[in-house]
Amino acid sequence: MIHLRRLQKLYKMGSSVVRALDGVDLTIGAGEFVSLTGASGSGKSTMMHIIGCLDRPTSGEYLLDGAAVSKMNDRQLAVVRNRQIGFVFQTFNLINRTSAVDNVAVPLIYGRKSSTKKASMAALERVGLANRASHKPSELSGGERQRVAIARAIVNDPKLILADEPTGNLDSHTGEQIMAIFHKLHAAGTTVIIVTHEMDVAAQAKRMIRMRDGKIVTDEILDEQRRSALQAEAYIAPQPVASPT
Ligand code: ADP
Ligand code: MG
Repeated sequence: MIHLRRLQKLYKMGSSVVRALDGVDLTIGAGEFVSLTGASGSGKSTMMHIIGCLDRPTSGEYLLDGAAVSKMNDRQLAVVRNRQIGFVFQTFNLINRTSAVDNVAVPLIYGRKSSTKKASMAALERVGLANRASHKPSELSGGERQRVAIARAIVNDPKLILADEPTGNLDSHTGEQIMAIFHKLHAAGTTVIIVTHEMDVAAQAKRMIRMRDGKIVTDEILDEQRRSALQAEAYIAPQPVASPT
């Protein structure tokens, strides 16, 4: 489904160059549940933005379902994003002055769908929040806001869900509820990629990729034994909380 080859993203900063991605080769199949982890500044968000068609690589190739995304123009990228990809961000990114159900409808309106109410309510139901449909974000808890954001991400039934530190602003119990929704989406066949620096969150995926300095340093399939070991490690030595980037 996702095929990255020799991917680079360079930022020119004055006379120096930041190698945010420095030669990434990666293949992710349909239906996988992958976590992307690594220290702050290792290139996780840059990678997500490129996979999510929010940004283009400086060089290298990106194929999404066989389509050469790295060669598309802005308008074509916007169509791919709207139809195929759902995003979840650490800071929820909801529109504050409008209700939960209207927030969820945004991708439908953008995609020029005629009836939005039914699909938006169905998406809210899938995250267990139908009873908050008319609440504004300010009238919801952090966990509820993130559930609205997930409902917005899945309202178009995308085959790919990308979440960048989705539990970063939530307490651990609320974070677990959010992770339960991602598990459910994965079980239903959606491809899920989660960026996190929290090891106990990363260890919940079926495959864990670690980045450092714009490169993939480890890429492993997690079995039950490895997962328990990682979770025990996270419990004994909690990861320092990195600032959001
Ligand atoms: P992470 O999400 O793992 O914390 P990022 O992908 O945000 O890392 O950033 C990777 C590197 O690229 C960092 O060194 C960061 O400072 C740099 N970077 C990210 N975005 C930009 C930008 N728009 N301009 C310049 N440098 C950037
Ligand atoms: Mg980041």
